[in-house]
Amino acid sequence: MEDKAMKVILDTGVQGILQSDLWKKLETTSREGSRLAVRLEKTGLVKRVKELVDGRWTFRLYAISDALKTKSGNTLEGCPCFKCADLARCGNLQSISPVFCAGLDHWLQILSKTGRRNNSS
Ligand code: SF4
Repeated sequence: MEDKAMKVILDTGVQGILQSDLWKKLETTSREGSRLAVRLEKTGLVKRVKELVDGRWTFRLYAISDALKTKSGNTLEGCPCFKCADLARCGNLQSISPVFCAGLDHWLQILSKTGRRNNSS
């Protein structure tokens, strides 16, 4: 589900997507969708920005990779987090954290050294 959500969010580019629109695209409930957004934000892959829509506060989701995408052409393709069994438990101040993840560190090093779009080749 995280993988699918990230693809949807990435496709929205700099416009981002409202949480409610993401739930509709993923055909899930707002409760599960909110949990999913929080999990993605904890990984550092997504930024949630509060927004007033039709008199109600909600969040718009942006893929953090968009900044990289527009400046260097990099994407999150190949990021180990998408296939990681620990994704739901990983986050800042958690026992499993992107700060201490060797897999993520390795992927970022390859990305910064090669400037390639992914590390799969
Ligand atoms: S443990 Fe590493 S690979 Fe897995 S979700 Fe966290 S940062 Fe990504």
